[in-house]
Amino acid sequence: MTHRIGIAGITGRMGVYLAAAVPRAGALLAGGIGRPGNGDFPDISALAAASDVVIDFTHAGTVAHHAGALAAAKTGWVLGTTGLTLADAQAVEAAALTIPVVAAANFSAGVNVLLALAERLGAVLPADAFDAEILEMHHRQKVDAPSGTALALGRAVAAGRGAALEDVMVSGRDGQTGARKNGQIGFAALRGGQIIGSHNLTFTAAGEQIGLTHHAFDRGVFATGAVRAALWLQGRKPGLYSMRDVLGI
Ligand code: NAD
Repeated sequence: MTHRIGIAGITGRMGVYLAAAVPRAGALLAGGIGRPGNGDFPDISALAAASDVVIDFTHAGTVAHHAGALAAAKTGWVLGTTGLTLADAQAVEAAALTIPVVAAANFSAGVNVLLALAERLGAVLPADAFDAEILEMHHRQKVDAPSGTALALGRAVAAGRGAALEDVMVSGRDGQTGARKNGQIGFAALRGGQIIGSHNLTFTAAGEQIGLTHHAFDRGVFATGAVRAALWLQGRKPGLYSMRDVLGI
């Protein structure tokens, strides 16, 4: 059976690449929606009814609504939108009780390998000796910071250390910050031009430093990964899956 894939956010920067990646993967593009009333369907429910899976790269403000609509339609969900609140994340988890969901802050294969490495380094490098810092840079239109990918990297390091990111995160230092504490994970965000996404994770100790860097040069890497996730999702049991599940790493 040909997989019918719908795209929420088809008029956006990512939407263009997703629309091209679907037929390239041998699937059928069911159509898409942009802002309400803008697209091939009147709303997310109509798109969901015409799709086996919806790939969603929109805006965090849509997530709770999309979660309800996709669960009601029993349509699979590949969620790439970032900047989610805790309530949004809970809405995704609730939907995943009814439908299969792949949610990832970054669908590129390279970043997902980086996440696996970040967790491993977090586990093997003592937190009291190696200071973990994450620097990201994105295009000037990006509306959330730190990026979802930077947060995912931080979460991976924290998981390797057996900590919760929320307890050790320090973001956007400015002014009289006091000295750095052991175990903290620091974040800095830069914005400018049309940079698609650059991430750098460093572990710095007194006498040495390890660095991991990823640059995305083309939005096609996210689109290819998201479509791969959509095809992988077909026939899965309800649940919340990651891109690392899709890639088997
Ligand atoms: P964009 O602003 O270019 O496009 C957003 C799309 O969502 C547009 O089609 C817009 O019409 C639609 N939209 C916005 N508000 C809406 C609303 N209230 N209801 C319905 N539709 C709405 O943004 P973009 O650069 O394409 O990024 C979209 C999202 O994807 C962002 O959250 C971004 O951070 C994320 N992103 C994720 C990955 C990943 O790999 N997970 C990669 C790139 C971007």
